[in-house]
Amino acid sequence: MPLNNFDRILTWQDFNQQLGQPGGANEYAQIHPDIAPSNFVLARVRNALTITDVTIDLSLIADDCWVVTSRMTNDLLKHEQGHYDILAISAREFYNTLIGLSAATADALQRRVNQLKERFAQQVTQVDARYDSESQTNHGINTAIQQTWDQKIAAAKANPRGRLTDLP
Ligand SMILES: [Zn+2]
Repeated sequence: MPLNNFDRILTWQDFNQQLGQPGGANEYAQIHPDIAPSNFVLARVRNALTITDVTIDLSLIADDCWVVTSRMTNDLLKHEQGHYDILAISAREFYNTLIGLSAATADALQRRVNQLKERFAQQVTQVDARYDSESQTNHGINTAIQQTWDQKIAAAKANPRGRLTDLP
């Protein structure tokens, strides 16, 4: 499947070490993963253009990933891995939705792709916020609930049909 870096394992090398939190931050590390679709392969089926293949790359916005040096624990890294995996699960859903997507014109198809990308990004933002919320992991501080999320995220990743709606 042309979904690159789906199984990437983060290390602290992926984060810029800082002495303290940037202003306004309420956790001790931040990751900023991104997805980018490219290499669209289109086919004309009857009167519609259909996507038959696409590549989706997961990457990190390196300048926007940071950790407070004194807080670099395995537990915090595992929590940040959860944020990455949430995006990875969404990227796979995005990929599966794009394959077979069709529209009458290339412009219309591009608009549909952009709309879907936006919709999946909004869902990721919501899941990330719920993952971090005080009643859930509280940024990884609540270790029992963090373990539940770790298990649910791992199960969703391992299931080719796993989705963000499978998460708590
Ligand atoms: Zn977090």
